[in-house]
Amino acid sequence: MIPVTKPFLPPQEVYESYLKGIWKRQWLTNMGPLASELEIRIRERENLKYALFVTNGTIALQIAIKALGLKGEIITTPFSFVATTSSIVWEGCKPVFVDIDPDSLNIDPDKIEAAINENTTAILATHVYGNPCDVEKIEKIAQRHNLKVIYDGAHAFGVKINGKSIFDYGDISVCSLHATKLYHSIEGGLIFTNDSKLVKKMERMRNFGFDGPSNFSELGINGKNSEFHAAMGLANLDFFDSILEQRTMLSDRYRQKLKSLKIKYPKWHENASNNASYFPVVFDSEETMLKCANQLKLREIFTRRYFYPSLSSILPYLENTEMPITEETAKRVLCLPLYFDLAIEEVDLICRIILRAHEN
Ligand SMILES: *Cc1c(COP(=O)(O)O)cnc(C)c1O
Repeated sequence: MIPVTKPFLPPQEVYESYLKGIWKRQWLTNMGPLASELEIRIRERENLKYALFVTNGTIALQIAIKALGLKGEIITTPFSFVATTSSIVWEGCKPVFVDIDPDSLNIDPDKIEAAINENTTAILATHVYGNPCDVEKIEKIAQRHNLKVIYDGAHAFGVKINGKSIFDYGDISVCSLHATKLYHSIEGGLIFTNDSKLVKKMERMRNFGFDGPSNFSELGINGKNSEFHAAMGLANLDFFDSILEQRTMLSDRYRQKLKSLKIKYPKWHENASNNASYFPVVFDSEETMLKCANQLKLREIFTRRYFYPSLSSILPYLENTEMPITEETAKRVLCLPLYFDLAIEEVDLICRIILRAHEN
């Protein structure tokens, strides 16, 4: 059996070495020393001013929306994981979908302005598969219309653009450290901003709004993460470069083996690095895609239709809107297995099955 993804686990002794400290201190959660150490190591690694370690990527999005005081309409992409949209609704705002660019599969910046009206307060865009959005264009639009920008960088850990961390962009950027993501802390999320006031506010928000032992400065929630999760994050961080290297090698192998086919890949941002967080393939038709997926499934090789269907046509709490490019693309995309201990022979087998499925 080959799953579509498999979480990376560090050598058990490495994790246990962190556990020893937890047992000694008996400090299990609530901004403990390992959680702080993880925040420091991540912001140093990313060369950013601030990083907040929270419960998960969804809470990170919700805190971001709340902290910016967003109301009314938020422009967003229908080609993402449901949490991008549901967080907007959960925070009492209205998601307004803008169709994607057919090449990058990210929100099409040239279509954003047509969706702006007097109720629009922000743009929440996803760096889909870790491929950066057109951050320059989005920033210009936001400035022109006085909008806030949040980036859902759930897939984007480790991506550099113009020599900087991708999380340096937007008023706030968030990341998910869920077990299925390329770099994880079992469950976890990160919030980034360069604004010192905003980071203080979000720090209080993730801790029930406490400002001192018996003071509240704002509405808060429980967005804290535990020492056990921080320990996994710290243990995995030392392996990140080798994880990235291995996944890049496997992705290159896929590309090389599939190069005779009429398939496409998301057009990567010119000035950005690629973190190989997924291996999405855009087939020429849904029929071909399904044929390949079914042939793989017969051999117990599992793929995922990330992201199908379009969020603009499936959520019971939203009216459906037409997003022709997203709908057309979502039908044809398939993510192939990609994880650290996937063997190169397994990639070759998957490619042979896909090539054969194309022949008949
Ligand atoms: C995984 C994911 C999230 C949610 O992150 P969790 O840590 O699972 O809450 C949000 N947005 C996108 C695009 C994701 O892929």
